[in-house]
Amino acid sequence: MGDARSGVRAAGEGADRVLGTSACGAPYAGGAGDRSALFGRRERLMAEAVRGGPKLPGRLREVSRLLSRRFGRPGACGHEIDPIRNLVLTILSQNTTDANRDRAYDHLVKRYPTLPELAAARPSELEEAIRTGGLAKAKAKSILGALARIKEEGGGYSLDFLRGMPLPRARAYLTSLPGVGVKTANILLLFSFGLPAFPVDTHILRVTKRLGLVPAAATLAKAALSLEPHVATGDHVPLHLNLIRLGREVCRPRNPLCAVCPLLSVCPEGARNTKGKVCRP
Ligand code: SF4
Repeated sequence: MGDARSGVRAAGEGADRVLGTSACGAPYAGGAGDRSALFGRRERLMAEAVRGGPKLPGRLREVSRLLSRRFGRPGACGHEIDPIRNLVLTILSQNTTDANRDRAYDHLVKRYPTLPELAAARPSELEEAIRTGGLAKAKAKSILGALARIKEEGGGYSLDFLRGMPLPRARAYLTSLPGVGVKTANILLLFSFGLPAFPVDTHILRVTKRLGLVPAAATLAKAALSLEPHVATGDHVPLHLNLIRLGREVCRPRNPLCAVCPLLSVCPEGARNTKGKVCRP
């Protein structure tokens, strides 16, 4: 998330701002309305349904400590990533690699240097521009649909009206946009708004299931909403980034490297996998 690039130029209220630069805070001025309250209620119910036990905060703290000891404590880059740029990038990143996402974003910015140009793009031409990122038809539809909604409801291509809004309400608004699920919303909330959201991707879901931190049947959204309130203050960014790194390098989908995993001492699956094979710390 820290590979900030400048690109599409914002219009309307933010016309003089190039995406990728730090966005200044603006007080919440409404906009999501009563509908977001409904989404907030649904989200609360989901979180309650999957809420972890009382030991979860302590276990998450220990996991974070062990990961930081191995990988350090990575943080978000020095400045916040512009929310609209982050939204476009995160939609492009769905079901593809970082390299393909970046290629698709580069093509998009070359073809549509400003947000009004992007918002006015023909769907078929936008699809062509982002084809390298995969799922081009669905992603083009999501990007155009989200930009249209944001312009219609906020009066410009800006999400600054979310600043100052409580996290559940801001998430409810974002997840009401086309193509934006809890994971995408949480990435924006954490990296663009500095809120204590906890995005869960497929790596984090796999690792936290193996650790027994979320139920085996948990979805990405349920895992995110159940873990989020139990992550210690200040741990959301490093724990998110370190769990992804662990999932890529150690706790791989097949043949996890349990014997050299920094979490072996706290992992039930690791204990089963290494029974009689390694001296556990
Ligand atoms: S001990 Fe094994 S299963 Fe557990 S987190 Fe580490 S690699 Fe994954």
